[in-house]
Amino acid sequence: MGRGEESESLIQKMKSKGNLKSFRVEEAIRATPRHIFVPEECSEYAYRDTPLSIGSGQTISQPSVVAKMTEWLDPQEGEKILEIGTGSGWQAAVLSRLVGQGGVVYTVETIESLADKAMENLLLAGVNNVEVIKGDGSTGLFEHSPYDKIICTAASPGIHNEWVQQLKEGGVLVAPIGSKQLQNMVALKMEKGKTRLIKHERGYRFVELKGERGFDSG
Ligand code: SAM
Repeated sequence: MGRGEESESLIQKMKSKGNLKSFRVEEAIRATPRHIFVPEECSEYAYRDTPLSIGSGQTISQPSVVAKMTEWLDPQEGEKILEIGTGSGWQAAVLSRLVGQGGVVYTVETIESLADKAMENLLLAGVNNVEVIKGDGSTGLFEHSPYDKIICTAASPGIHNEWVQQLKEGGVLVAPIGSKQLQNMVALKMEKGKTRLIKHERGYRFVELKGERGFDSG
């Protein structure tokens, strides 16, 4: 089976299990080959619905989780998105297809070597509307705020004030919130200056958010 066929088979499996519903998100995933974003040693597993190690104790998220978080975030053409936790760059690349050339994705990664590799991966995938920033995203990224959408792809102990302050009116924030071991996926919408919970689902396990507002921040 070629890589294109493997990708198609994964997409069809996610659809049949109800994990991929939006045609726009399906098209964005189809246009973003996951094998470019995984280390060579686990390339053969790139199209399995599983997280994979990307080094430094971190992972590229499971495709069906990326699909769901992207659907909940619902990126639109021309939007400005902040991602906290670049990892391999795959989620950012999927988002970049949805915001299009008129939009931009800022993605923050705390581990320098991963940020460098993600930049390489994005270049190889032909993505030019993602900016990778090295640093601590636990307090968001004030510099380019406010954002239409914010997505955190590491387990966070809470929704941090800075994230809420950096979200536009009508904007959406998606993040796994809970303990280091287990999180709820939540989606919040900014309405009249306050956030309202619009979706939540139990049973997620992400690598932990580090930094000033992360776990063990003292
Ligand atoms: N979105 C990624 C992808 O598509 O490959 C997967 C992200 S991985 C599950 C979580 C990432 O969050 C890790 O790369 C980790 O280093 C990063 N991270 C943890 N704490 C962070 C922080 N405070 N600021 C920025 N990145 C952080």
